[in-house]
Amino acid sequence: MAAEMSKRRPVRSGNFMLIASIVILSVISNARCQDFGYDGAKGPSHWGEQYNSCTGKHQSPININSLDVKKVNLPAIILDGFDAFPQQTNLTNNGHTVAITMKDHFPTISGGPLTGVYQYSQLHFHWGDNDTVGSEDMIDNHIFPMELHVVFFKQEYKTAKSAMKHSDGLTVLAFFYEISQEDNPSYEEFVQLLRNVTSSHKTATFVNPPSLRDLIARDLMHYYTYDGSLTTPPCSEVVTWIDFKEPILLSHTQIEAFRALEDDEGHPLTHNFRPIQPLGDRVVLYNTDEIVKDVDLTDEIPPEEMDQNSLEQQQEKSNRPVKGKKPHPDSGAGSIGASWTVLLLLVLAVSFGVVGSPK
Ligand SMILES: [Zn+2]
Repeated sequence: MAAEMSKRRPVRSGNFMLIASIVILSVISNARCQDFGYDGAKGPSHWGEQYNSCTGKHQSPININSLDVKKVNLPAIILDGFDAFPQQTNLTNNGHTVAITMKDHFPTISGGPLTGVYQYSQLHFHWGDNDTVGSEDMIDNHIFPMELHVVFFKQEYKTAKSAMKHSDGLTVLAFFYEISQEDNPSYEEFVQLLRNVTSSHKTATFVNPPSLRDLIARDLMHYYTYDGSLTTPPCSEVVTWIDFKEPILLSHTQIEAFRALEDDEGHPLTHNFRPIQPLGDRVVLYNTDEIVKDVDLTDEIPPEEMDQNSLEQQQEKSNRPVKGKKPHPDSGAGSIGASWTVLLLLVLAVSFGVVGSPK
């Protein structure tokens, strides 16, 4: 671009400054708009060069260690509009994944770890080159062949875009897939339609749109939840992740159909998962109905026989966390320590005649 400019006739300094400014602005703007990918110079290790949030401390995905979670019993998740069949459902290859959007249909979710009502935005998938890779979050270092992300934004923020400016703006329901011998009939038309959207930015419309319920797992009681980020640029740390334990079953052939899609450059989109990120100071919650039973039993168990887990569960009963925010386990111990210090100082003061011996 500089060589091209030097061939042109000289310009006055005012004009030159204007042109220079335009050139600089256009370079900056091009850099901001530059697309991301999953390999080479556009790959995940370079995302942070253009998107600051991608180097944040609360990024997704993560590996969830099931032995290092806080067991909780959160309010039930409430779904609305998940059983309805939308008038029009579209399937779009956006160059990074394939996404399902619905026209004039607004399913919502509330309860669980969420405060407020969240409205459906879109759902999309992450997969890998073969059945041994593909999911983004991992459970006990186990990688699943594919992962579904059902994205919702907090309704009070009106749109998904404005919700991304708030730390509680989005929630993503994540479902893992496992391979089964049989095709999953609920995904039949979906998998067939993938052939119509092989090229980037192609859209196809369902003849018989599935309901959201058809596409997800049945068990919505057992899940992991934590605060994290979008797993693609701009990697905004605004997502309450809800990762369901029960996998969805698809055949190898059905998952293989996703790998035939193409990215913006016409290359096969064989993988689109981000590597795991550090957990940092975050605590992952595991929602289960076990606690209620455990806590009832603890009345009959002598304290010395209770393991650390049971003690933690008892604490949770009285101080149940609402969201995956980091708890402050030291706060209780701190106030006890402070009381002892005050008592000790008082005793010392009395002993040395500072208090209670007027002269
Ligand atoms: Zn995703």
